[in-house]
Amino acid sequence: MPKAVGYVRVSTDKQLDNTSIEKQIEEIEKYCEREGLTLVQIYNEGAKSAENIRYRSVFKQMYADVLDKESNIDYVIVFKADRISRDNLESLYIFKRLTQAKKHLICLADNIDTRDPKAKLLYQIMSLVSELERDMIKLRTTSGMERRATEGKHNGGKVFGYTTKNKELKVVPEEAKVVKFIFKKYAIDQWGYRKIASHLNVLGKTTKNNKHWSITAVKTILTNRIYIGDIKWRNEYRKGKHSAIIDMELWEQTQKMLKVNSHIQEKVHPGNYPLSGLIKCPECGAPMVQGNSSPKYKYYQCSKNKNSGKKACSSNLVKKEYAEHYVYEQVFYSLKSINIVEPLLKMLHSFAMSEIEPLEEKIKAYQLELRQLKEKRKELISWKLKDIITEVILKEEMHDIQIQENLTLKHIDNLQQQIRLRDKTHLSSIIKNSFQDFKTFFDLIDDEDKKALLRSLIKEIHVNKGEKTKDRTIKEIIYAFDLDYLSQVI
Ligand SMILES: [Zn+2]
Repeated sequence: MPKAVGYVRVSTDKQLDNTSIEKQIEEIEKYCEREGLTLVQIYNEGAKSAENIRYRSVFKQMYADVLDKESNIDYVIVFKADRISRDNLESLYIFKRLTQAKKHLICLADNIDTRDPKAKLLYQIMSLVSELERDMIKLRTTSGMERRATEGKHNGGKVFGYTTKNKELKVVPEEAKVVKFIFKKYAIDQWGYRKIASHLNVLGKTTKNNKHWSITAVKTILTNRIYIGDIKWRNEYRKGKHSAIIDMELWEQTQKMLKVNSHIQEKVHPGNYPLSGLIKCPECGAPMVQGNSSPKYKYYQCSKNKNSGKKACSSNLVKKEYAEHYVYEQVFYSLKSINIVEPLLKMLHSFAMSEIEPLEEKIKAYQLELRQLKEKRKELISWKLKDIITEVILKEEMHDIQIQENLTLKHIDNLQQQIRLRDKTHLSSIIKNSFQDFKTFFDLIDDEDKKALLRSLIKEIHVNKGEKTKDRTIKEIIYAFDLDYLSQVI
């Protein structure tokens, strides 16, 4: 029998009609009986404001329980949709989340049943929201996420330099040579990622997936502890059974270099190419990014060309000044016709609410972990002082703690970054003002905000093919949502 949970709440807002908790429970029980559902639990919030779910701990618990893969809950039943949230978009957002997880939501009094195909219209609206959300999350962290994703892939088994036989990693000599080449060029000859990738591509070497080498691919190799014989297990590294390809000395030298270079990069990065990533290369479709240009001539350049060299794609330069001027004019013109401000603000608001809180909880958990590691460290020292453990064991254990600590810090950093991305209070005011006087406004805001705004509006920008730079003009701007559709909905 399918499993269901109920959620009940009375509003503190006296203006609303308020069905008693008892009545709500009764209705939910009746429904389950009629439909043949096992009612596992009823979550009772008591009297709480509908304002937002942030302050409703029982709701959050229910939401987490239902989305938990092991819970096997199929249905969430509430008496009325406004029990979930008075903010329509916030409710819709939750609907969408539940459907994605293949859970059904039933709102008894409003006749909402997400098994019903008619509910589809709701989801169409929600898809606008999710597109916007995706763009938001992509901001700034793109490189970090890409790296994590590639790391994740390695868990699946494919690691450059090795082949997997009976779940054991065996060195592939030809690939191991490439790995060594990458480390040596980077740490000893101080080559940049791009130069290394380009060089490998010229030599005809490809990655495990038969792709051209890229900046990210090179970076991933340089930070993978598998090459010193470690293995990733439950997000931690421990000694593996396989042979190392890189010795400790070269590894440490590399990590030092990476640290130094990351500081330099942060400072140098000018970030004044607001259309980076949005413009697509007319030849290969890859995102175009800041070109290696002189102060006088500035261009967007195919990222494949920039990362992997001539073999991957041509530079296909597009004039920066032209592209930006053109796009701003077009965006301004298109948006003037519809009032998009209010729905956008609502969407932003609802994301922030439902997403930030769980992230904050996770950070708290990691912080606790850090404190525990600190305690462990103290304990080890006291054991050493009392001669309970040897110097060697102390060192080994301390090393392990250090690794765990670094990893935890990295997690916290990632989460904090995600929270910053979701905190769109400043973005809201940008959007509001931007539609009054787009041009003046756009000149005033800083580059990061320009990027954020553009990414919430534009999905991609296509460019005409052309031999000469001046032929590569903008062909089409594809918005992050269907403007016609949106104007009908509003
Ligand atoms: Zn290209």
